[in-house]
Amino acid sequence: MKFRVLATARSFCNTPGPHLSYLRDNDCQLDLRAQAQPLSATQLSQLIPGYDGVILGLDDCNSSVLKQADKLKVISRYGVGVDKVDLAVAASRGIVVTNTPGTNTIAVAELTVALIYALARNIPQVANAARSGSWQRELGWELFGKTLGLIGFGAIGQEVALRLAASGMTVLAYDPYFQGEVNGVQISALQALIKSANIISLHAALTPDTHKLISRERLAQMKDGSYLINTARGGLVDEEALFDALKSGKLAGAAMDAFVQEPPIDNPLLRLDNFIATPHIGATTREAVARMSLLAAHNLLDVLTGKANPHIVNQALLNAAKEKS
Ligand code: NAD
Repeated sequence: MKFRVLATARSFCNTPGPHLSYLRDNDCQLDLRAQAQPLSATQLSQLIPGYDGVILGLDDCNSSVLKQADKLKVISRYGVGVDKVDLAVAASRGIVVTNTPGTNTIAVAELTVALIYALARNIPQVANAARSGSWQRELGWELFGKTLGLIGFGAIGQEVALRLAASGMTVLAYDPYFQGEVNGVQISALQALIKSANIISLHAALTPDTHKLISRERLAQMKDGSYLINTARGGLVDEEALFDALKSGKLAGAAMDAFVQEPPIDNPLLRLDNFIATPHIGATTREAVARMSLLAAHNLLDVLTGKANPHIVNQALLNAAKEKS
């Protein structure tokens, strides 16, 4: 076999499908190391030497890991977000980083919509109570006629907009890089959106600019009794400030699929009745896993065999590093 390839993403490793045979049939010796939790930098540093390519989930691939990557040519991210990979250091070492845009858009959009309905009608709380013999009816809210604010208006944000505009919501969206128009959506300034939305849903990439975008100050500016949903990345929200806003009743509820620390052991948010946590299942549908797996495998092999690939996320950094040397 010509290429040594490591895969850590759990559903990539554990789901049978053409992604595995595609790599094995094309000169890849595939080491499947499915991990229950994303690997720490220390764990990944120990594994990575000797591999030509890696298919990573949400593992911490920082500069110290990349220094141990003695043969690595490609990091194929199994998913969209690349916030766990040091793109600049990868480029300085000539390592190409790819991702799988569009493969899990519908899955995350559908989870977001489900969480919004679950918050509005208190579904987890009443379902749990009913199981333990309580027949208490909680008054909920209809989404019809309310205002939804989307922060981040890329692939997932737009799919959420489509679905909730059809539910009769007014949809506002903030995204400094979005250009164009989408039927039924009003592009808004961030401040105006924060102040007027009944429900705010986060769909921005995690970058230095969006880190703690939902700060204590912005939470204070949200409408009394409003809701926050985060199916993007944990770092977008000041979790301590969110805890205070939920505890005081400033916010009526919140739901998150992504946390700063995963799993969120001892996170006080998990003790609040008006908080719903899901274990980063945004992309965990059969359809999304099949699409992500196949695209991650194709991206990896394209780079290893020198083929052009449209999903390289650090091309500008690679070009700059090449010019420098
Ligand atoms: P995308 O790249 O299509 O959209 C991200 C959007 O964020 C872009 O439109 C970009 O312009 C916008 N953005 C960047 N900086 C911003 C800022 N300062 N303020 C507001 N918006 C800003 O990606 P996507 O497929 O829509 O995914 C969105 C995010 O969802 C990803 O970055 C990823 O972190 C997260 N995600 C989570 C799961 C999950 O399992 N929960 C799965 C897939 C993606």
